[in-house]
Amino acid sequence: MSENSCHATPLPWGRAAADRFGRVVDYLRISITDRCNERCLYCLPEGYHGWTQRPDYLTTEEILRLVRVAAGLGFRKFRLTGGEPLVRADLPELVSGMAAIPGVEAIGLSTNGTRLAALARPLREAGVRSVNISLDALDPAVYRRITGGDLATVLAGIRAAADAGFERVKLNAVLLRGLNEAELWPLVLFAAEHQFPLRFIELMPVSHAHVLTQANFLPVTEVMEQLRAREHLIPQPDPRLGNGPAKYYRLARTGALVGFIGAITNRHFCETCNRVRLTADGKIRPCLGNHGEWDLRAALRRQASETELAMLLGHAVAQKPQEHAFRGDYTPCRPMVAVGG
Ligand code: SAM
Repeated sequence: MSENSCHATPLPWGRAAADRFGRVVDYLRISITDRCNERCLYCLPEGYHGWTQRPDYLTTEEILRLVRVAAGLGFRKFRLTGGEPLVRADLPELVSGMAAIPGVEAIGLSTNGTRLAALARPLREAGVRSVNISLDALDPAVYRRITGGDLATVLAGIRAAADAGFERVKLNAVLLRGLNEAELWPLVLFAAEHQFPLRFIELMPVSHAHVLTQANFLPVTEVMEQLRAREHLIPQPDPRLGNGPAKYYRLARTGALVGFIGAITNRHFCETCNRVRLTADGKIRPCLGNHGEWDLRAALRRQASETELAMLLGHAVAQKPQEHAFRGDYTPCRPMVAVGG
């Protein structure tokens, strides 16, 4: 099949997008930059110097080529992330290029919200369907302490996202014992008021940051108990609530929809994993919590054919480990900001 064809040649062994454990992998998370305009304690190691150099980032054309290949392999859901994806100037062009690729059914974005006030509408018009916004606290001082950023700017971004007509806007909060515990209930009330699904995420050892200690780890089960002390939690089995591993509950009185991402404590966490990751410097990574990566940038830059790119991507899918290695003595290599959230 020609290079300019809309469909990549399927892998010779057929169902490329299923891994060794029978999980269908149809979700590609694409980090488009490792740069970020916030400094989240749990994400970016202090004094980090490992930034990708400009020539090493995948270009828009290179990303679009890989998206075409992935779509030809059966990938349907795509998420742009980072670093902070909204710091990349060519983001709207990238999104509209992706939206035009046959097979691309859903384009989502993960952002800290700081640039959404200006960009929510153009991104919606370009083809972004859903937005996940990180929001770890509603107290400006706590927010600044955790992220280094300005809460008012983020709240303006959230308002803009709500007005821009995305199909779904979700909020994500990382659980940090002693840091944002007192923020969890205000976050629930905020989510209920604005009807945003809210997900609480367990801290993962994806960085060398000093905050990543057992003492700061707050399990989702404990948060569920805290919420149960206030409200009845009604399980929500609806799989359409997301592409991810969150378990959702509706809070009976406030009506809040709260998801729990028990990456560490939920032993079944990886059983339904449907994703692989592409880093901003062009490595394909089958699992966030295992170090293996394959270099697609090198293949792209030696003008590998679509068939070869499809083989490499299919190989990465096939090599997905059964589960993440976070529960062992996992030592992060590249931090989250470099791998892509
Ligand atoms: N800048 C964007 C954002 O803020 O959403 C996208 C990248 S960020 C790395 C993606 C997600 O990863 C965020 O929800 C963030 O809170 C989460 N994250 C980063 N480090 C984490 C950690 N150590 N444990 C759990 N979640 C983490």
